[in-house]
Amino acid sequence: MKRTTTISGTNSMSNEDFAKFIVESPLYHRVRAVENIDMRQPAWCEIADYCDKKFVFKCPVEKSVQTFRTMPFDGYYDGSLMYRSVEDNSLPDGFDEKTKLFAKTFSLTGECQSCGHRIDIIITAFTDMEWTPTTAGASLYMQKIGQYPAFSIEVQTEVSKYLTEDDLSFYKKAMISLSQNYGIGAFAYFRRIIENEIQRLIKSISELEFDGVDMIKQSFLKYETDHQMSPMIDALNKHLPGSLTRLGDNPIKLLHQQLSEGIHGLTEEQCADKARHIDALLSYVIKVINEEKFAFKGAMQAIQALRKS
Ligand SMILES: [Zn+2]
Repeated sequence: MKRTTTISGTNSMSNEDFAKFIVESPLYHRVRAVENIDMRQPAWCEIADYCDKKFVFKCPVEKSVQTFRTMPFDGYYDGSLMYRSVEDNSLPDGFDEKTKLFAKTFSLTGECQSCGHRIDIIITAFTDMEWTPTTAGASLYMQKIGQYPAFSIEVQTEVSKYLTEDDLSFYKKAMISLSQNYGIGAFAYFRRIIENEIQRLIKSISELEFDGVDMIKQSFLKYETDHQMSPMIDALNKHLPGSLTRLGDNPIKLLHQQLSEGIHGLTEEQCADKARHIDALLSYVIKVINEEKFAFKGAMQAIQALRKS
Protein backbone atom coordinates (compact mmCIF):
# COMPACT_ATOMS: atom_id res chain seq x y z
CA MET A 1 0.00 0.00 0.00
CA LYS A 2 1.50 3.31 -1.04
CA ARG A 3 0.83 6.18 1.30
CA THR A 4 1.35 9.82 0.66
CA THR A 5 4.05 11.16 2.90
CA THR A 6 2.77 14.06 4.90
CA ILE A 7 5.28 14.67 7.63
CA SER A 8 4.09 17.45 9.86
CA GLY A 9 7.67 18.23 10.84
CA THR A 10 10.58 19.42 8.76
CA ASN A 11 13.10 16.98 7.38
CA SER A 12 16.41 18.09 8.81
CA MET A 13 18.51 15.58 6.91
CA SER A 14 19.53 16.47 3.38
CA ASN A 15 20.63 13.66 1.07
CA GLU A 16 24.19 14.69 1.86
CA ASP A 17 23.56 14.52 5.64
CA PHE A 18 22.00 11.11 5.23
CA ALA A 19 25.01 9.80 3.28
CA LYS A 20 27.28 11.19 5.98
CA PHE A 21 25.18 9.50 8.64
CA ILE A 22 25.42 6.12 6.88
CA VAL A 23 29.14 6.30 6.14
CA GLU A 24 30.70 8.32 8.94
CA SER A 25 28.45 8.25 11.96
CA PRO A 26 29.77 5.99 14.72
CA LEU A 27 27.39 3.45 16.24
CA TYR A 28 25.00 4.92 18.81
CA HIS A 29 25.71 8.45 17.65
CA ARG A 30 22.33 10.11 17.25
CA VAL A 31 21.43 12.49 14.46
CA ARG A 32 18.22 14.47 14.11
CA ALA A 33 16.19 13.27 11.14
CA VAL A 34 12.97 15.25 11.48
CA GLU A 35 12.20 18.22 13.71
CA ASN A 36 9.19 20.23 14.82
CA ILE A 37 6.86 17.26 14.54
CA ASP A 38 3.38 18.22 15.59
CA MET A 39 2.11 15.03 17.17
CA ARG A 40 -1.42 16.41 17.13
CA GLN A 41 -1.36 16.03 13.34
CA PRO A 42 -1.24 12.75 11.50
CA ALA A 43 2.50 12.40 11.24
CA TRP A 44 3.93 10.23 8.51
CA CYS A 45 7.54 9.48 8.22
CA GLU A 46 8.44 6.40 6.27
CA ILE A 47 11.37 4.10 5.90
CA ALA A 48 10.88 4.59 2.17
CA ASP A 49 12.06 8.17 2.69
CA TYR A 50 15.52 6.69 3.31
CA CYS A 51 15.51 4.27 0.41
CA ASP A 52 17.14 4.78 -2.97
CA LYS A 53 19.66 7.25 -1.50
CA LYS A 54 23.22 7.49 -2.70
CA PHE A 55 26.33 7.21 -0.54
CA VAL A 56 29.99 6.62 -1.26
CA PHE A 57 31.66 3.73 0.53
CA LYS A 58 34.69 1.48 0.13
CA CYS A 59 33.31 -1.70 -1.42
CA PRO A 60 34.49 -4.66 0.69
CA VAL A 61 34.64 -6.86 -2.44
CA GLU A 62 36.27 -4.50 -4.93
CA LYS A 63 38.42 -2.83 -2.25
CA SER A 64 37.83 0.52 -3.88
CA VAL A 65 35.51 3.46 -3.24
CA GLN A 66 32.19 2.99 -5.05
CA THR A 67 28.73 4.52 -5.19
CA PHE A 68 26.17 2.61 -3.16
CA ARG A 69 22.40 3.05 -3.05
CA THR A 70 20.02 2.09 -0.30
CA MET A 71 17.66 -0.52 -1.75
CA PRO A 72 14.00 0.21 -2.44
CA PHE A 73 11.70 -0.52 0.48
CA ASP A 74 10.39 -4.08 0.03
CA GLY A 75 7.10 -3.48 1.82
CA TYR A 76 7.19 -6.79 3.68
CA TYR A 77 6.66 -5.00 6.94
CA ASP A 78 5.07 -1.78 8.07
CA GLY A 79 7.16 0.97 6.57
CA SER A 80 5.88 3.88 8.56
CA LEU A 81 8.19 5.29 11.17
CA MET A 82 5.62 7.59 12.69
CA TYR A 83 1.94 7.58 12.21
CA ARG A 84 -0.98 8.75 14.22
CA SER A 85 -4.62 8.26 13.51
CA VAL A 86 -6.48 11.52 14.04
CA GLU A 87 -9.73 9.68 14.75
CA ASP A 88 -8.96 9.02 18.38
CA ASN A 89 -6.44 9.88 21.05
CA SER A 90 -5.08 6.39 21.53
CA LEU A 91 -1.35 5.80 21.60
CA PRO A 92 -0.06 5.75 18.02
CA ASP A 93 1.87 2.85 16.49
CA GLY A 94 5.44 2.45 17.61
CA PHE A 95 4.99 4.24 20.96
CA ASP A 96 5.79 2.35 24.16
CA GLU A 97 2.80 1.84 26.46
CA LYS A 98 4.81 2.64 29.58
CA THR A 99 7.32 5.30 28.53
CA LYS A 100 5.05 6.87 25.87
CA LEU A 101 8.21 7.28 23.82
CA PHE A 102 8.49 6.24 20.22
CA ALA A 103 11.18 3.81 19.08
CA LYS A 104 11.38 1.64 15.99
CA THR A 105 14.27 -0.40 14.68
CA PHE A 106 14.63 -1.08 10.98
CA SER A 107 17.33 -2.07 8.56
CA LEU A 108 18.53 -0.63 5.31
CA THR A 109 20.56 -2.45 2.71
CA GLY A 110 23.10 -0.57 0.64
CA GLU A 111 23.96 -1.99 -2.77
CA CYS A 112 27.24 -1.35 -4.58
CA GLN A 113 26.31 0.11 -7.97
CA SER A 114 29.40 -1.41 -9.50
CA CYS A 115 29.41 -5.07 -8.38
CA GLY A 116 26.08 -5.49 -6.58
CA HIS A 117 27.62 -6.34 -3.20
CA ARG A 118 25.28 -5.50 -0.33
CA ILE A 119 25.93 -4.11 3.13
CA ASP A 120 23.41 -3.96 5.98
CA ILE A 121 22.80 -1.12 8.38
CA ILE A 122 20.48 -1.43 11.39
CA ILE A 123 18.96 1.82 12.61
CA THR A 124 16.82 2.77 15.57
CA ALA A 125 14.58 5.82 15.15
CA PHE A 126 13.21 7.44 18.29
CA THR A 127 11.58 10.62 19.57
CA ASP A 128 12.69 12.85 22.41
CA MET A 129 9.20 13.64 23.73
CA GLU A 130 6.50 11.58 25.35
CA TRP A 131 3.35 11.33 23.33
CA THR A 132 0.25 13.14 24.45
CA PRO A 133 -2.66 14.09 22.19
CA THR A 134 -1.48 17.69 22.41
CA THR A 135 2.29 17.40 21.98
CA ALA A 136 4.01 19.54 19.38
CA GLY A 137 7.64 20.22 18.58
CA ALA A 138 9.07 16.71 18.90
CA SER A 139 12.12 15.58 17.00
CA LEU A 140 12.78 12.21 15.45
CA TYR A 141 16.34 10.98 15.91
CA MET A 142 18.18 8.11 14.31
CA GLN A 143 21.19 6.15 15.39
CA LYS A 144 22.94 3.22 13.85
CA ILE A 145 22.98 0.27 16.19
CA GLY A 146 24.72 -2.15 13.89
CA GLN A 147 26.27 -2.56 10.51
CA TYR A 148 27.81 -5.36 8.53
CA PRO A 149 30.59 -5.33 7.59
CA ALA A 150 31.74 -3.36 10.64
CA PHE A 151 33.63 -0.09 10.30
CA SER A 152 37.00 -0.75 8.82
CA ILE A 153 39.74 1.38 10.23
CA GLU A 154 41.24 3.06 7.24
CA VAL A 155 44.39 5.05 7.87
CA GLN A 156 45.45 7.46 5.14
CA THR A 157 48.63 6.21 3.48
CA GLU A 158 50.67 9.32 4.25
CA VAL A 159 49.69 9.14 7.91
CA SER A 160 50.42 5.43 8.29
CA LYS A 161 53.80 5.84 6.56
CA TYR A 162 54.77 8.79 8.73
CA LEU A 163 53.85 7.59 12.22
CA THR A 164 56.11 5.29 14.24
CA GLU A 165 54.87 1.76 14.75
CA ASP A 166 53.71 2.55 18.30
CA ASP A 167 51.90 5.71 17.27
CA LEU A 168 50.23 3.98 14.33
CA SER A 169 48.86 1.45 16.78
CA PHE A 170 47.60 4.29 19.05
CA TYR A 171 46.11 5.95 15.98
CA LYS A 172 44.14 2.82 15.04
CA LYS A 173 42.94 2.49 18.62
CA ALA A 174 41.85 6.15 18.56
CA MET A 175 39.88 5.51 15.35
CA ILE A 176 38.20 2.42 16.81
CA SER A 177 37.29 4.43 19.94
CA LEU A 178 35.80 7.16 17.74
CA SER A 179 33.78 4.64 15.73
CA GLN A 180 32.26 3.40 19.00
CA ASN A 181 31.66 6.96 20.16
CA TYR A 182 34.18 6.59 22.97
CA GLY A 183 35.51 10.15 22.75
CA ILE A 184 37.50 10.31 25.97
CA GLY A 185 39.53 7.26 24.93
CA ALA A 186 40.12 8.66 21.43
CA PHE A 187 41.26 12.03 22.80
CA ALA A 188 43.64 10.30 25.25
CA TYR A 189 45.20 8.27 22.41
CA PHE A 190 45.64 11.39 20.29
CA ARG A 191 47.39 13.17 23.15
CA ARG A 192 49.88 10.32 23.37
CA ILE A 193 50.42 10.49 19.62
CA ILE A 194 51.10 14.24 19.75
CA GLU A 195 53.39 13.82 22.73
CA ASN A 196 55.47 11.30 20.77
CA GLU A 197 55.26 12.85 17.33
CA ILE A 198 55.64 16.58 17.93
CA GLN A 199 59.44 16.45 17.99
CA ARG A 200 59.52 14.32 14.85
CA LEU A 201 57.21 16.79 13.10
CA ILE A 202 59.45 19.71 14.01
CA LYS A 203 62.55 17.75 12.95
CA SER A 204 60.89 17.00 9.59
CA ILE A 205 60.04 20.69 9.15
CA SER A 206 63.66 21.61 9.96
CA GLU A 207 64.76 19.34 7.10
CA LEU A 208 62.63 21.14 4.47
CA GLU A 209 63.88 23.96 2.27
CA PHE A 210 62.39 27.42 2.85
CA ASP A 211 63.34 30.90 4.05
CA GLY A 212 63.95 30.80 7.77
CA VAL A 213 64.64 27.06 8.00
CA ASP A 214 68.08 27.80 9.50
CA MET A 215 66.43 29.42 12.52
CA ILE A 216 64.26 26.33 13.00
CA LYS A 217 67.30 24.05 12.61
CA GLN A 218 69.13 26.04 15.29
CA SER A 219 66.26 25.96 17.75
CA PHE A 220 65.79 22.24 17.13
CA LEU A 221 69.47 21.59 17.95
CA LYS A 222 69.06 23.67 21.09
CA TYR A 223 65.94 21.70 22.01
CA GLU A 224 67.88 18.45 21.72
CA THR A 225 70.19 19.63 24.51
CA ASP A 226 67.85 21.59 26.82
CA HIS A 227 64.47 19.91 26.02
CA GLN A 228 62.67 23.26 26.27
CA MET A 229 59.67 23.06 23.97
CA SER A 230 58.36 26.66 24.24
CA PRO A 231 61.42 28.46 22.70
CA MET A 232 61.24 26.02 19.80
CA ILE A 233 57.51 26.69 19.32
CA ASP A 234 58.30 30.45 19.39
CA ALA A 235 60.90 29.99 16.66
CA LEU A 236 58.34 28.05 14.63
CA ASN A 237 55.82 30.87 15.06
CA LYS A 238 58.19 33.27 13.35
CA HIS A 239 59.71 31.05 10.70
CA LEU A 240 57.20 28.39 9.64
CA PRO A 241 57.04 27.79 5.86
CA GLY A 242 54.10 29.44 4.09
CA SER A 243 52.40 26.12 3.41
CA LEU A 244 51.93 25.64 7.16
CA THR A 245 50.86 29.19 8.03
CA ARG A 246 48.11 29.27 5.40
CA LEU A 247 45.66 28.19 8.10
CA GLY A 248 46.10 31.49 9.93
CA ASP A 249 47.65 29.88 12.98
CA ASN A 250 50.63 27.73 13.84
CA PRO A 251 49.32 24.15 13.63
CA ILE A 252 52.27 22.75 15.62
CA LYS A 253 51.55 25.15 18.46
CA LEU A 254 47.85 24.19 18.40
CA LEU A 255 48.70 20.49 18.50
CA HIS A 256 51.15 21.06 21.35
CA GLN A 257 48.52 22.99 23.34
CA GLN A 258 46.30 19.90 23.36
CA LEU A 259 48.78 18.27 25.74
CA SER A 260 48.19 20.83 28.48
CA GLU A 261 44.42 20.78 28.14
CA GLY A 262 42.67 18.71 30.82
CA ILE A 263 40.25 15.95 29.96
CA HIS A 264 38.38 16.37 33.25
CA GLY A 265 34.97 17.92 32.89
CA LEU A 266 34.76 17.21 29.16
CA THR A 267 31.95 14.99 27.90
CA GLU A 268 32.46 12.01 25.57
CA GLU A 269 31.00 14.13 22.80
CA GLN A 270 33.36 17.08 23.42
CA CYS A 271 36.36 14.75 23.55
CA ALA A 272 35.24 13.04 20.31
CA ASP A 273 35.05 16.44 18.60
CA LYS A 274 38.52 17.34 19.86
CA ALA A 275 39.91 14.01 18.69
CA ARG A 276 38.42 14.54 15.20
CA HIS A 277 39.90 18.05 15.01
CA ILE A 278 43.33 16.81 16.12
CA ASP A 279 43.13 14.05 13.51
CA ALA A 280 42.30 16.57 10.77
CA LEU A 281 45.11 18.93 11.76
CA LEU A 282 47.73 16.23 12.30
CA SER A 283 46.91 14.60 8.94
CA TYR A 284 47.14 18.00 7.24
CA VAL A 285 50.57 18.76 8.73
CA ILE A 286 51.91 15.33 7.74
CA LYS A 287 50.60 15.77 4.19
CA VAL A 288 52.14 19.24 3.83
CA ILE A 289 55.51 18.01 5.12
CA ASN A 290 55.42 15.12 2.63
CA GLU A 291 54.42 17.33 -0.28
CA GLU A 292 57.14 19.89 0.46
CA LYS A 293 59.73 17.16 0.84
CA PHE A 294 58.86 15.49 -2.45
CA ALA A 295 58.38 18.76 -4.32
CA PHE A 296 61.89 19.77 -3.26
CA LYS A 297 63.37 16.37 -4.09
CA GLY A 298 61.73 16.48 -7.51
CA ALA A 299 62.98 19.99 -8.21
CA MET A 300 66.50 19.03 -7.09
CA GLN A 301 66.55 16.03 -9.42
CA ALA A 302 65.33 18.20 -12.28
CA ILE A 303 68.08 20.77 -11.63
CA GLN A 304 70.75 18.08 -11.51
CA ALA A 305 69.48 16.46 -14.69
CA LEU A 306 69.37 19.80 -16.53
CA ARG A 307 72.85 20.71 -15.39
CA LYS A 308 74.23 17.45 -16.80
CA SER A 309 72.55 17.86 -20.16
ZN1 LIG B 1 31.40 -3.35 -5.31
